[in-house]
Amino acid sequence: MSTHTAQSLGQRTRSCATGLVCHRCENSYPLEQSIFACPDCGKGLDVVYDYELAARHFSEVPSAERPHNIWHFEELLPIVDASAQARVGQHSGYTPLIRADRLGAELGLSNLFLKDDSSNRPSLSYKDRVVSMSVARLLERGETEIGCVSTGNVGTAVASLAAKAGVDAYVFYPNALENTKARACMALGAKVCQVEGNYDEANRRCREVAETTGMDFANITLRPFYAEGAKTAAFEIVEQLDWQSPDHIITAAAGGTLSSRLHKGLVELQLLGLSETDATRIHIAQPSGCNPIATAIVAEEAEIHAVTPETAAHSLAIGNPGDGYLVIDAVRKRGGTGGFASDPEIFAGIDLLAATEGLLTEPAGGTTIAVLEKLAAAGRFAPDDTVVAIITGNGLKTLDDHPPKPWPAKVDCELDAMLAALSELKRGGTLVDSAREQLHF
Ligand SMILES: [Zn+2]
Repeated sequence: MSTHTAQSLGQRTRSCATGLVCHRCENSYPLEQSIFACPDCGKGLDVVYDYELAARHFSEVPSAERPHNIWHFEELLPIVDASAQARVGQHSGYTPLIRADRLGAELGLSNLFLKDDSSNRPSLSYKDRVVSMSVARLLERGETEIGCVSTGNVGTAVASLAAKAGVDAYVFYPNALENTKARACMALGAKVCQVEGNYDEANRRCREVAETTGMDFANITLRPFYAEGAKTAAFEIVEQLDWQSPDHIITAAAGGTLSSRLHKGLVELQLLGLSETDATRIHIAQPSGCNPIATAIVAEEAEIHAVTPETAAHSLAIGNPGDGYLVIDAVRKRGGTGGFASDPEIFAGIDLLAATEGLLTEPAGGTTIAVLEKLAAAGRFAPDDTVVAIITGNGLKTLDDHPPKPWPAKVDCELDAMLAALSELKRGGTLVDSAREQLHF
């Protein structure tokens, strides 16, 4: 990649991270310390940076000379060991920002963009960003095993990025797993354990497994580092818009990592003088069957009430979101909102995105599109506002979970029969094999 990325053994990256600080009591801890929650109050820890130094580093290396990957903004990322950084995420991040003119026309938005993390590498979801940070941190610590608790996409990201880094991966899934994602983890060489419990129960127990065994978990013990990866989506969106921060960003929310760190990323860009980001609103989308954060936002409550998830959007089925309070803070400070969509609306959102923009997303992306549609209809956006919707995952991984559609009937491989079939399709008809109506797509 770039000559400006330090990659040889023993070298330090340009990271300007200075330590870890508690979200609540603001106690601080050294960056090197293996710690993921505040010993005093139990809240999560955040990475803090020397922003004056970061601003100087930024001006020294122009964007064009920086690698187009997850490390493009390495000053504002927490990895300091260049050899660890060089082994992870070299092809992650820097996903396309796509002008969505056809979907925009449907919704009455003339400046709609899609941040397409359904094409993120290597595992086709936004989780490649966060897990890259976890695996790099693990290598920095000299460890060779990594665990995770996952509703699907974290697992495939851990399996894939760990394999590339030569690290053994252990993936714990709750009971409502998406089959294709679990099979993908195994195909990538990870050891998979399905746990009889929902995500929140599995998450609690995995924390105990981590504490008992000392094995690092990508999204538990490495969480302060993991979360930092999510900021890169905000950095890229603003740079891809030529440093003009959008009026609105909308994304699906599960645990709340992405939406809360979009806020942090926007704040940091402004601190570095790279863009005026204060006016950018952040909106979050959740399924009606698991919407604790959106409910609190809409009701203007400070407290999140945990729910038992019941939704086809399995990757959003987190009823007790760890970073939910940070999301509420981010959305309120930015004047955004929360919305939710039923399962049928989510699948209609998937179909609308596919039909207008040729992108196949999973139910999380369908949730974002469904809520985007509702907010547009409610007049939350001016027609010429710049709106960015983040498509967080790929629909190829969830096809088995989409509602069944009729299996096309077989016609003879013969000109007249095929012309007749084509005429029928052009008239809007379908060729249904009534004996086989279980095709999922
Ligand atoms: Zn604390």
